[in-house]
Formats: sequence, structure tokens, C-alpha cells
Amino acid sequence: MVTLEGIVIDADEAVLECQNTDDVIKIGVSARHVHLCRKDLYTLFGKGYELHKKKELMGGQFAAEECVTIVSPELRAIEKVRILGPLRNESQVEISRTDTFKLKNSPPVRPSGQLDGAAPMAIVGPKGSIFLDECCIIANRHIHLPTYLAEKYGLKDNDFVDVEVETGKPTRFFDVQVRVNDSFTPEMHIDTDDANACSLKTGDAIKIITER
Ligand SMILES: [Zn+2]
Repeated sequence: MVTLEGIVIDADEAVLECQNTDDVIKIGVSARHVHLCRKDLYTLFGKGYELHKKKELMGGQFAAEECVTIVSPELRAIEKVRILGPLRNESQVEISRTDTFKLKNSPPVRPSGQLDGAAPMAIVGPKGSIFLDECCIIANRHIHLPTYLAEKYGLKDNDFVDVEVETGKPTRFFDVQVRVNDSFTPEMHIDTDDANACSLKTGDAIKIITER
């Protein structure tokens, strides 16, 4: 992990530790990471391979011990990109806008799992490599809410809200996607660019603004 006065730039800072379960909505900062399907896991790490859990994350997710190298079509690479488990139906690479200057690519901003028109990327593991035509996105800002809390705010899945940030660099995020599920703890997920831009870090509280 590389931390310069709290600036989060490396995969080891990866994603969102489990937060407390009261009604306060806390920030989870997502560093660049990769989700894999089973077929791609086997290609990269060998047939029958299973991920090793490094750290529990929200909603049953975990940061794996395993990392990969991602290589853009411009042959620019970023090493040690953390894999998040469990396995998914489709492999997906989530990077920040800052990463695109290193990779020389231009992925769209998308909700996780919406890969139509996503950018291509090669993924290199210790036992093999893959090239995926549509896998790389910049994840959109989103808030996970348990159903009871969403109801308290009068919100439902896929609504959009504004969010107020009260740090030394106060900010308002517009049109933040709301995800509602009983398994969620209240958390807003942003990437390292958004976090650094307004001095936010994992665990900071934010406020939902339902009226402009
Ligand atoms: Zn999330």
C-alpha cells in the first residue's frame, strides 16, 4: 500500500472494510480491482484453483490474497491489482480515471455488472492470461442501503440522490445511484479519485440530500 498523507493509490488499500451497522452512512473507498468468473480464474491460476480470503468486505464479498496484472490494448500495464471474491458470472475490471492516464484507455462510467460497451483489457495471472473485449469500467458512485433505511429515506433500488460531504474540501455529489438490499449495510462506495478529490476516507460519514 502506498499512502501519501492519506492519498489512496494502491490496491492493498482495497475496498470497503465492513462498517458498523447503525444508520450512519459511511464511505467505503474502492481501489482498482478485478472480479473473475470461474473459467477465467482457472485460466489465470490453474484448473481447480480457489481464491484465498484476505479480508471480509461488505455483503459477503472479500478481498482475495490473489492479484493479477492488467494490460491495456496500448500495452500499458498495472501490476498487483487485487481480486475480489466471490466469483461472478462475468469477469470485470474496475479502475479509476487516474488509472486511465497510465493505461491510455477510456472505459465508461458504469454501475458494476453493466459491461455493454465496456473497454477491452488483458488480464495476466501466474498460470495464463486472457483478453476480454468488454470488461473494464470506471464504477459509478453508489450507495448501498438496507431496505429499512431506504424506506426511512423514501428511496427504492435504482433511485438517484445527491450526497453532501463535509470535509476540509466540502463537496456535493449529484445523481448517486441507490442500491437497496436486505443484506447491505449502509455504505457509499466511491473510487480513489473521488475520495482524494474531497479528502474522504473509508469510514467517513456522508449525508443523503433527497431534495435539491
Ligand atoms: Zn458497492
